[in-house]
Amino acid sequence: MVKITCDNCGIERPERPSTAAVEWILGYDIEMESPNAVQRSLRFLDRWDDRRVMEFGAIHLCCEQCKAEYRAAPAA
Ligand SMILES: [Zn+2]
Repeated sequence: MVKITCDNCGIERPERPSTAAVEWILGYDIEMESPNAVQRSLRFLDRWDDRRVMEFGAIHLCCEQCKAEYRAAPAA
């Protein structure tokens, strides 16, 4: 199994979440470079999808708070 951690706070996602209430957020953070700027595309999926967690640019966030903080942070 792959180990998934929150891209904001670094907490580890349990392999078998004990309660459905603990819903992680899956999204994509993709940077596209153009000659004079880097454009950042931030998108979030409606719900977690195990088949897509390792896709290119995928980000994993443990809660709404981390999602908000990640969104506010400048691109690395
Ligand atoms: Zn987090």
